[in-house]
Amino acid sequence: MKMDQYVLFMKFLSDDSHTPEVAPKAIATVAGPLRIGRVSGKVEVEPGALSPMGENKTYRFFEASEGADEDSSIVLTRATVDNGFAMLEIFHAKGGEAWSEEDEHALRVIGDAILLHLSRHRLNERLQRSAYTQYLTGLPNSGGFLQQVGKVFKQGQITRYDAFYYNLKGMGFLNMRYSQRDGDDIIRRHAQLLHGMIREGECIGHLGGDNFVALILKERSEDFLDSLLGGVDIPITFRGESTLVTVTATVGMMHIDESFPGPWAAISGPSSAAQIAKETGQSFVILTREMMEKNSRDTLIENTFHTALAQGQFQPYYQPKVNMKTGEIVGAEVLARWIRDGHVVAPPEFIPVLEKCGAIVELDMYMLEQACIDMREWMDAGEEPVPVSINFSRRDLEMPHLAEHILECIERQRIDKKNIIIEVTETADERENTVMMQFLSEMSEGNIPTSIDDFGTGFSSLSFLRDFPTSEIKIDRSFINHEVLREKDKVIIGNIVTMARQLGVDVITEGVEKKEQVAFLLDVGCERAQGYLYDKPLPRDEFKARLLGHAYRL
Ligand code: C2E
Ligand code: CA
Ligand code: CA
Repeated sequence: MKMDQYVLFMKFLSDDSHTPEVAPKAIATVAGPLRIGRVSGKVEVEPGALSPMGENKTYRFFEASEGADEDSSIVLTRATVDNGFAMLEIFHAKGGEAWSEEDEHALRVIGDAILLHLSRHRLNERLQRSAYTQYLTGLPNSGGFLQQVGKVFKQGQITRYDAFYYNLKGMGFLNMRYSQRDGDDIIRRHAQLLHGMIREGECIGHLGGDNFVALILKERSEDFLDSLLGGVDIPITFRGESTLVTVTATVGMMHIDESFPGPWAAISGPSSAAQIAKETGQSFVILTREMMEKNSRDTLIENTFHTALAQGQFQPYYQPKVNMKTGEIVGAEVLARWIRDGHVVAPPEFIPVLEKCGAIVELDMYMLEQACIDMREWMDAGEEPVPVSINFSRRDLEMPHLAEHILECIERQRIDKKNIIIEVTETADERENTVMMQFLSEMSEGNIPTSIDDFGTGFSSLSFLRDFPTSEIKIDRSFINHEVLREKDKVIIGNIVTMARQLGVDVITEGVEKKEQVAFLLDVGCERAQGYLYDKPLPRDEFKARLLGHAYRL
């Protein structure tokens, strides 16, 4: 081979395009003198950390018109950076003189140059991909997924697809049973299996952990969903034996239609549906318009809460607690109202949202402070206050030093501690029990009365009454709101009242709306109630007016 041929060959190879595009031109410059019949190659990489999906590709770089002599070839191999290998085979052309030692040396130099070009090109590609790739599975990450969705969206094809968001179920358990590495392996294989199913234009993205997203053609959605919900069998080796682990998923889905606002919605939409699925214990939820509207309402609440609180848009309303025998007001429950643009927003709209985003404790502390300020004002005006109850969400109890903050707030306004009652609801599990016990004990040590709200609706009301230090229980309205009050309710409430009295705990019933309920409650020994029959929750000034010497007469 002459020097100028070699220079020409290298010139072609200095091109940055894909190797299969440039190699034929480069090889053609030297194929004649070196009697090359064919050049083929392959790259094989086992799936592993550096190449989660592995690689298995073959190439045809050159084919001479006279064909190749299948029995005469030179093979070159090179390790790749991702622990695989690349192989190149150069065949002698049909007929012609056999290769000399010098020819073979030249062919090796040429072959090496092609392999180098190939590896440089793969590295480049890898680098570009990695910014858009999840390292564990090699699937597109959120950026890569959005890029694909954006492409389809721009082409005006997005309504042909449905969007999915799913979590693999039980990965925590699998990581514990096997190992973190096996867990990663399960996720990787699961990703590979599903990736193997997708078609042109579709995309599966891995957001990290066990969170995935997918864009799937509408006609194939059902199959895709079936495989997720039905479970995918993943072969793994555990203690030297191969077993199958069936992995299922919790899935949120969104039908994409003309109202699709933009690529980001292909993640946020189905992700909200998956969240709802998780919260309601379902495996699969389709996003509806109502859910979307609720979502944007919730987001609005979350985003405007702090400003609204600072601007005094939240106000305490007071619902009187009444002694049914005398008609006297014996206390009040503080219930938050959000006065937004002149409208009164009721708690069920915003409390759950604030609980979810963790801001509820700020509202509850604010309500406590406002109630203390109101009470201070009444006392300064020479009036006798009644004890008021403040609702504290269970989420609040996780806040460090909550009890101290409550005490501080009450002391700052120089309020008698017996006039503030902290209302909490029963707990749902062991972990909450520990936190609740700690909190109620601190309240009790600080001489602040507490009340157990919605009593009787929890799992373990009786043991709650036995084990937790509390001053009052508030019987849930579900016990008295039957059309006809039943004998069973009477027995239950009667016994709760007797038991509480013997334990030195006050009893009140909430949700009293009818006179018959009053008679019923007095009959079973419960004297105190709260309910629409007496009053709805009232703005502070109206409540204050009620306090002035008012007694209810039915
Ligand atoms: P809750 O603590 O069980 O409060 C009683 C709810 O029942 C109040 O609803 C009250 O207006 C309503 N109610 C009172 N009497 C009657 C009646 O005779 N019949 C009927 N059907 N309902 C009656 P509201 O004010 O909408 O509050 C709903 C829930 O929101 C409360 O339930 C409480 O869990 C929560 N909440 C309200 N304000 C706050 C707050 O400041 N902090 C926290 N953490 N939660 C609050
Ligand atoms: Ca309450
Ligand atoms: Ca209640």
